[in-house]
Amino acid sequence: MKRRGLIALVGASVLGWGLAGCSPSDCGPTAQTGTAAVAPEKPIHWKLVTSWPKNFPGLGEAPEKFANEVKRMSNGRLQIKVYGAGELVPALEVFDAVSQGTAEVGHSGAYYWKGKMPAAQFFSSVPFGMNAQELNGWLHYGGGMELWRELYAPFGVIPFAGGNTGVQMGGWFNKEINSLEDLQGLKMRMPGLGGEVLKRAGGTPVTLPGGEIFTSLQTGTIDATEWVGPYNDLAFGLHKAAKFYYYPGWHEPGTALELTVNKKAFDALPADLQAIVENAAQMANQDMLDEYTARNNAALVELVEKHGVQLRKFPDSVLARLKALSEQTLAEVAANDPASKKVYESFSAFQRKVAAYHEISEKAYINAR
Ligand code: CA
Repeated sequence: MKRRGLIALVGASVLGWGLAGCSPSDCGPTAQTGTAAVAPEKPIHWKLVTSWPKNFPGLGEAPEKFANEVKRMSNGRLQIKVYGAGELVPALEVFDAVSQGTAEVGHSGAYYWKGKMPAAQFFSSVPFGMNAQELNGWLHYGGGMELWRELYAPFGVIPFAGGNTGVQMGGWFNKEINSLEDLQGLKMRMPGLGGEVLKRAGGTPVTLPGGEIFTSLQTGTIDATEWVGPYNDLAFGLHKAAKFYYYPGWHEPGTALELTVNKKAFDALPADLQAIVENAAQMANQDMLDEYTARNNAALVELVEKHGVQLRKFPDSVLARLKALSEQTLAEVAANDPASKKVYESFSAFQRKVAAYHEISEKAYINAR
């Protein structure tokens, strides 16, 4: 009643906005172009589903920050409610939920959809592949994003880079890994292409959502696990279930998270709200990497000094064999799937070029420092 009264006051140019059954996305621009700067626009409400426990450090905070920033930049015109894993849909059904429109947005990792499309794995992390800085370069300036959009288009889903963990840790083990043979028969939580490599090394990879890792490791359902890095691994208490903490995370050298948006919902937004969604995603993408950079080192000190975690580096001989197996795995994935081949070629060509330059820039500097 209040709204009808207001519309009557501000005149015919905004009448369409007040009609019954008019959705906010259809009517928003009409309201904006009217003379009534004071007319309150009915907010658009979206749902965002994630693969993480609600407000989990880093991973779970990124979608909250994204939603907050969208609300702030849109002055409340687009409001996004964030659901933790299992609250609306199970952790590993985020992509389907966004594709079907159960939720307008998802926050997850592309490698969880490898059963649906093996090529998706290249957009999260590739064993011995690019680090965070390089991957972001490929996505935004090297043709990666165009390939990612093309891959998800048949599902009515638009991907955005939605965070990056940086180089992950190699994982938690209850025994030392002195040779590749020590991985044989090992049942280890490791998703994506890294899991495929582990399989070729004689291990049994298991994909589990984060929230199930600790109990699985503690009860012996799995023998070992990787998760993210010190900041996140400490939060899950993984040091209470395994003693040896290995580095480096050869299998996930700079894992990208994804913000996925239902295409119909995105297309229905006015152009300024679309720009806000894009820019909030870009913010979330960089923000996560910054936060991990700031917090991982302190968490590692706590794990080692307070909790007595045994920090170990994988022997060079083990890393060399895992690298050879990774090359073989990537070649096989590309040979068996045309979409993977196309993405892998773009990914590896970019990596070769950027790695050559990073030899004399980032790496040379870090060695010199
Ligand atoms: Ca991981």
